[in-house]
Amino acid sequence: MRIFHSEDHRGHAGAKEMRYDQFIPMCESPDRMDTILAALREQGHRDITAASAFDLAPVLRIHTPGFVEFLQTCWPLWEAEFGPKGFATAYMFGMRGMDQVPNKSVHSMLSCYTFDVCVPFVAGTWKAIRSAVDTTLSAATFIAGGGEAAFALCRPPGHHASADLAGGYCYVNNAAVAAQTLLDGGSARIAILDIDYHHGNGTQSIFYGRDDVLYASIHATPESEYPFLLGYARETGAGPGEGFNLNLPLPLRTTITAYRSALAHAMERIRAYAPDVLIVSLGVDSFVGDPVGGFALESVDFLTIGADIARLGLPTLFVMEGGYAIAELGLNTANVITGFSQARG
Ligand SMILES: [Zn+2]
Repeated sequence: MRIFHSEDHRGHAGAKEMRYDQFIPMCESPDRMDTILAALREQGHRDITAASAFDLAPVLRIHTPGFVEFLQTCWPLWEAEFGPKGFATAYMFGMRGMDQVPNKSVHSMLSCYTFDVCVPFVAGTWKAIRSAVDTTLSAATFIAGGGEAAFALCRPPGHHASADLAGGYCYVNNAAVAAQTLLDGGSARIAILDIDYHHGNGTQSIFYGRDDVLYASIHATPESEYPFLLGYARETGAGPGEGFNLNLPLPLRTTITAYRSALAHAMERIRAYAPDVLIVSLGVDSFVGDPVGGFALESVDFLTIGADIARLGLPTLFVMEGGYAIAELGLNTANVITGFSQARG
């Protein structure tokens, strides 16, 4: 397992997020990467490589030019108005109905291009976004060159971001950019297996009308969990994409037995699809102690999940998504990677 990483995520830090009735420090923090790296090393993973730099062309295959310009200019515009302290965030969002075109004011762009209050911008945010996509593209390039398995250890995560909307800690959809890059490089079909606790509404929306990317997601039911409006089993794709979107929502407090049944279901669909590459949106916020999760998976269960995924026998690109129980995050993430690696032998 080759692991790719960049240190350039560190500047994306210091903002707060709104959790119901209070502002708390962002759960999506730089120390997430440190604890995962430490646990990977402790479990014997030594093949850790610095990410290479890529231009923005692969990002623009997934995201709109206006959205990418917003991601780049949001903080400088905000800072010009409010100074270097604090963080940029929207205080209103787009309204349904009527055409709404953002003007060049930062408030207008934040309202147009974000969908919640969990995507703050600070001075280091754009550099961190670039580092995450560079890390993922480095890993995708390794797979495209014949590598069997790679892990893009990156932040901020990506699966809530759609073509022109940031939200849920996500700005650029790293896994989607990787999928498109692999397709552009000659792959015919890509499967994305999303095992983050939350539904990847962004990834779903990007590929919803397409049959060259299968999206399969196991997540907490939107009846009771973020992103609340999407992630139902009835969302199966549209047009040529009909049948290529598989949502497997599970109730709160789900344990490994029910989880593995859903995973087997997703894997059966992926096997039938016979993709050239499997991308795993790897979130471990399904852990019982996660502050933003509600499932009941134990640390040891992540070894099992990694081993199960290995049995697909596909070239596999893991892309880091969520996981916020800092004390156990490293162990849980490394367990997926180790379980996978051991099963592959
Ligand atoms: Zn999540």
